[in-house]
Amino acid sequence: MNGPLSQPLNGDDRCEVAIIGAGIAGMYAVYSCGMGGLDSILVEATETPGGQCMALYAEKALYGVPGQYGERAGNFAEKMSNECLQYARRTYLGCFVDEIERTEETDEFLIRFKDQATGHIHVVSAKHLIIATGVGRMTPCVPSAMSGLEHIDPRSDFVQYYRMQRDFYTGKVVVIVGGGDSAADCAMMAADAARSVVLMHKKPKLVCEAAKIAQIERLQQSSKLSIALNYQIVEIREADSKRLIVARNAEEMDITIEVDHVVFCCGFVVNNGMLAMFRNLGLEIEDNLIKIDINTMATSVKNCYAVGDVVTYANKKKSIVPCLFEADRAVRIIRNARIRSFQ
Ligand SMILES: Cc1cc2nc3c(=O)[nH]c(=O)nc-3n(C[C@H](O)[C@H](O)[C@H](O)COP(=O)(O)OP(=O)(O)OC[C@H]3O[C@@H](n4cnc5c(N)ncnc54)[C@H](O)[C@@H]3O)c2cc1C
Repeated sequence: MNGPLSQPLNGDDRCEVAIIGAGIAGMYAVYSCGMGGLDSILVEATETPGGQCMALYAEKALYGVPGQYGERAGNFAEKMSNECLQYARRTYLGCFVDEIERTEETDEFLIRFKDQATGHIHVVSAKHLIIATGVGRMTPCVPSAMSGLEHIDPRSDFVQYYRMQRDFYTGKVVVIVGGGDSAADCAMMAADAARSVVLMHKKPKLVCEAAKIAQIERLQQSSKLSIALNYQIVEIREADSKRLIVARNAEEMDITIEVDHVVFCCGFVVNNGMLAMFRNLGLEIEDNLIKIDINTMATSVKNCYAVGDVVTYANKKKSIVPCLFEADRAVRIIRNARIRSFQ
């Protein structure tokens, strides 16, 4: 095929193995490439590696992962990313892959993605492709009635999503939005370091674990944090270098608050709109998942492998340990093929 991606663009990169998705499967594929001496690059749609573990259930205790019993999924994902990503020659975060093409002439894949922060479009070429896109892109939820977000520079740190980094909050004025466990965890962490923290929830009650509610109430009594229930953000804007949010309560009364950061912890929408891209590439799809050969993790397209929750085969289990096995196996097959080609 000789499609539009065959036209070279600025900033192109070339690698032996391109891995799409920095969930558990993709991160372990990077690690395995490092161990096998393969040059890899990793492309991830969100700003934070870790996939579902980080985005969907960071506070939940893990099960079924040997040696990690009771570990919080977010901690596990962070430790994995620290360990694994050092082996990628380059990791592109905040970059959503929206086009993949295979060129018969060079026997390579061309992978196109846009950097959400800069708008720059990259096209990377790779000998081998590992698709580890799991459940798809996870987009953070924001209040549906809120206006103004589109005018905020995505590179500014005004608007954040589920940020669990104590240092980030030091000395800052912060509004944390949400009433579940992730909002509670964020608020408690921020209360320890920030100048002031408001935990804002649109409902009359928080919906997190009882122990967390008790802890939040204690922080409220010691004036380290305030709770604004029945409030919803309706507008967000920057004016005269001030960062402002407008929140409306159940009686339709508005208050404007000047903040350093607003942190949305309202969950994520999962969108697996990539089937068309997979089909265009020629991948065999079953039940909206990529069919692979379990012996090799190979897809129906030459030199293209798929691992983790995006794949289907008989008795496939969607959990962490199979992701590790599948990623390791795909890389082993690529490495062995390379060794054979040198013999
Ligand atoms: C609530 C819940 C609890 C769970 N608890 C456990 C548990 O206790 N133990 C266990 O073993 N398993 C558990 N699982 C299952 C486990 O989390 C998954 O099997 C595993 O995380 C899948 O990893 P993955 O890498 O295949 O996919 P994902 O984690 O979905 O990662 C895919 C990554 O690819 C990125 N991506 C997608 N499309 C693109 C694109 N086009 N371009 C660039 N990047 C892209 C996404 O942003 C994401 O980061 C749980 C799952 C859920 C939902």
